[in-house]
Amino acid sequence: MTPLIIQDEKGLYCPAGDFYVDPWRPVERAVITHAHGDHAYSGHQAYFCTRLSSPIIQQRLGKLERLKALEYGEPIEFGPVRVSLHPAGHILGSAQVRIESKDGVWVVSGDYKRTFDPSCNPFEVVPCDTLITETTFGLPIYKWQPGEKVAQDILAWWETNRLAGKACVLFCYALGKAQRILAELAKLTDRPVYLHGAIASLIPPYEAAGIRMLPTIPVSEMDKNHSYAGELILAPPSAFKSPWLRRFDPYETGFASGWMRVRGAKRRRGYDRGFVLSDHADWSELLQTIEETGAHRVYATHGNSDTLVRYLNERGLEASALKTQYEGEQEE
Ligand SMILES: [Zn+2]
Ligand SMILES: [Zn+2]
Repeated sequence: MTPLIIQDEKGLYCPAGDFYVDPWRPVERAVITHAHGDHAYSGHQAYFCTRLSSPIIQQRLGKLERLKALEYGEPIEFGPVRVSLHPAGHILGSAQVRIESKDGVWVVSGDYKRTFDPSCNPFEVVPCDTLITETTFGLPIYKWQPGEKVAQDILAWWETNRLAGKACVLFCYALGKAQRILAELAKLTDRPVYLHGAIASLIPPYEAAGIRMLPTIPVSEMDKNHSYAGELILAPPSAFKSPWLRRFDPYETGFASGWMRVRGAKRRRGYDRGFVLSDHADWSELLQTIEETGAHRVYATHGNSDTLVRYLNERGLEASALKTQYEGEQEE
C-alpha cells in the first residue's frame, strides 16, 4: 500500500491528492490545521482551512485570494482522495485532517488536546488506520489539570495581589491561551482584564465566534499615568522583561504554559508564578487518543516523540517519528 502522506522538504505531502498539510515552504495547495505560526505559513498558492480559522489566518498572513473555508466534517475531493476537517480542541478553528482513499483512512492530528476548553470546539475522535499525531508533551511527567482549576489558581493569585495593591502581569501565548484564560475566568468573575496589543488584536475573531470571555481593555487605550494596582494584565512572553512593563509597577509576573510542569522552569525563567496550562495533549491524552482512533500505525511529530514511539512499539503498534519543523508550545 502506498502511503497517503509522506514527508518531504516542504512538509507533509499527500501524493495521491497532490496537496500538503501545514507545509513550511511555499506549495501549490496547502491544507492548514490552525492559525499558529509554525503551521500557517504565507506564500502558498491555495489555502484550505476551517471557517473558524480563516479570519485568524488572514489576520496574520494578510488577505488570501485563494482560500477555501470548510465547515467541520464537510468533505472536499482532491482527485481520488477525500479530505475533511474535524475539531482538534487546540484553539479556535483548529482541525485534524482526515484523508480517505480506497486504500484506507489517515488522520493528521495537527495540534490537539482532550481537556475541556470553553474557547473552542471539543476534540473529536476520528477513527483511522494511520494516525500522524503531535507529541509536544509526549512524556509521562506531563499530566494536566482541568483549565477550570488553573483559572481558580490564577484568580486566587490575582486576589492576593489585589489586596496588596499590586498588579498581576500574566504572560501567555497571544493566540489560544489568552482567550482560553479569559473564557475560563469569565465563569468565576466579571472584572475586566487589561491586554497587551498582540493579544487585544486576537479577541475580535473569538467574539465573532460567540466565545464568552471577560471584558477586556487594551493597555494602549489608557493614559500613561493610569494606575494598574489590583488589576490583571495579559501579555505575550515576548513582552517579559521589556520596558513596557514599567507602567504596572508594583507588579508580580506569572507564566501560563505546559512547560511550567517542569520543576524549576518558573525560577529559571524568572517568573514569580507558574501556571501549568497547555493547549496540547498530555501523555495520557496521547495514549487515549491513539487507542480510541483504532490506528494500527502511528507517526509522531513535534519533538519528545522517542518515548512514545518506544512505548507503542513495545505494545505491538507500528510507530515511528517524523522530523517535522513544528515547534509545539515554544520555549521562550
Ligand atoms: Zn498550535
Ligand atoms: Zn504545533
